[in-house]
Amino acid sequence: MDSVDRSSEPKYECLLFDMDDTLYSLSSGLNLACRKNIEEYMLQNLGINENEVPKMCLDLYKEYGTTMAGLKALGYEFDNDEFHQYIHGRLPYEKLKPDPFLRSLLLSMPQRKIIFTNADKAHVANVLARLGLEDCFEGVICFETLNPPVEFTEENSYGFEFLTSDIQVEPKRLSSLVDENFDICESSKISLPKLPILCKPSVEAFEAAIQIANVNPKKTIFFDDSARNIAAAKTAGLHTVLVGGLVVVQGADVALTSIHNMREALPEIWLSEEEKEEEQAELLYPATPIETFVLA
Ligand SMILES: [Mg+2]
Repeated sequence: MDSVDRSSEPKYECLLFDMDDTLYSLSSGLNLACRKNIEEYMLQNLGINENEVPKMCLDLYKEYGTTMAGLKALGYEFDNDEFHQYIHGRLPYEKLKPDPFLRSLLLSMPQRKIIFTNADKAHVANVLARLGLEDCFEGVICFETLNPPVEFTEENSYGFEFLTSDIQVEPKRLSSLVDENFDICESSKISLPKLPILCKPSVEAFEAAIQIANVNPKKTIFFDDSARNIAAAKTAGLHTVLVGGLVVVQGADVALTSIHNMREALPEIWLSEEEKEEEQAELLYPATPIETFVLA
């Protein structure tokens, strides 16, 4: 008989992190620079009218999760790697500085830690190297993971693994995941819109990430700066933390102004269930100070 001491089991087994504007601040300017590069790509490489580009860029981002996914859905044909190289190749990466505080925080967390981003693997490697966080994560679920058949090695020179998904994101498998969540689609014969690119905030992308990482969503916390990603993550059954926001949005269990505040806002990450109960008991029944009299 297994003698598992459940009381010492941690409440959470895995921490799933978005990367851009979550592990570093939006104020770095990378986000803005990236958007400018996307607009320039639409203008220069796809021949889209200059007056239409900014609104179209934003509308497609809102509708499809990323502008790239929206462009593909509209029928624009371009090479994925070339697109990523164009929009990320000239980013001011030098603005990202090593973050030893976050590094020590991450390394002190006992759970599995995985990146889940819409970005491509080259961008992930650049950002994590600049932040000094290359060895803080067990793996990365990125654009190439969810959108094969781009060939890439399972491990790169930065020492962390890019998770692959040969079986998990095979279209039929994803359809079954969708059907499981939306039974009505099966019974009413409604055909779901084809996803040209699988990315957050689609619930299917979260379901795929959960499978690829092989985690129990009930024991996983997802961190992201995007309110809509948080909402989708909640639908997929994950615990959710909005990073960079001052208010709790729909679907967010917790809101942090900075990823640096994890320890204060989420002490349970570091506590086993047993320790947590002890801590709560201490709060309910604080130890009564005993006065000692010395009789002489
Ligand atoms: Mg983000």
